[in-house]
Amino acid sequence: MAIQWFPGHMNKAKKELQERLGGIDVVIEMLDARLPASSANPMIAQIAKRKTSIKVLNKQDLADPAVTAIWLNWYRSHPGTSAIALDASEKSPSQRLIEACLDAAPNRGSVDKPLRVVICGIPNVGKSTLINSISGRRIAKTGNEPGITKGQQRIMLTDEIELFDTPGMLWPKIMVPQGGYNLAASGAVGRNAMDEEEVALELLAYLIRYYARELDARYNIGDIAGMQDWQVLEQIGRKRGGMLPGGRVNIQKASEIVLADFRSGAMGRLSLERPDEWKAWEKAAKEAAVIRLAEKEAARLEREARVAKAAKRR
Ligand code: GDP
Repeated sequence: MAIQWFPGHMNKAKKELQERLGGIDVVIEMLDARLPASSANPMIAQIAKRKTSIKVLNKQDLADPAVTAIWLNWYRSHPGTSAIALDASEKSPSQRLIEACLDAAPNRGSVDKPLRVVICGIPNVGKSTLINSISGRRIAKTGNEPGITKGQQRIMLTDEIELFDTPGMLWPKIMVPQGGYNLAASGAVGRNAMDEEEVALELLAYLIRYYARELDARYNIGDIAGMQDWQVLEQIGRKRGGMLPGGRVNIQKASEIVLADFRSGAMGRLSLERPDEWKAWEKAAKEAAVIRLAEKEAARLEREARVAKAAKRR
């Protein structure tokens, strides 16, 4: 079963975001560099359609640098969009953001009418960490200003650039099954909403394909080529997760180890999706949704026909 996670309050978040974006010139969306598309919130793209946007691929220290470069180019090829990669070790993240803003909206912003930028992203992408590191003493609470919510946190990036935080949660909307697994692997999905073994197996299937060398280096598995995800998980369990009575492998423990190692970067710098792949997953998910809808409609028609036949007989 794919990850299903609807923590609710989507409509409230959407309304809040819509209100917030009123007076905003540039929208910064923070993404997880290991899973940029899965960690995007489609609602942001939808609401901010006509705004200039900057994608921040955060936690780049955990992602495959070659894949991050592909994603950066991919985002930059979209009109009105720029992209940078960042991580918490960056010495001057505000400088990087200033450059990105000036790049995205050149010749805009003045002391009289500063450029208004909002930063948003799903939980766990590192938004608080970034904001804490750039805010310092430059935070100012907002007052009564058109399009800007009272009490919203504002950081003066420069005299000409105001950065607004979006308080409240913007949860991911899981529409692509692989996206759900990737979010779960990254730690962005609540523990109760996922089956660790299933998520670890999906993760391993991907890593076997792209990062067999890294897997072997971490767990000393040997010849991974040709091995199935569950075989690799069992091997990891045997080596690291311990055994259960009766000689069985502790699969739950092995799954937890795999997920913890991935999240901490212990297996190296790994990315879980590429743009072309994402497009294919999205296409398949849309087709599956169309089929589901058609099946539902067929079942409804059949039900109606049965009812009509029964009524005729009476
Ligand atoms: P938020 O929910 O988006 O505000 O995310 P947080 O700022 O609370 O960060 C979530 C987790 O990711 C925390 O454990 C952070 O320490 C970690 N984190 C944040 N930024 C980075 C980063 O650039 N690299 C790595 N490796 N971890 C990060």
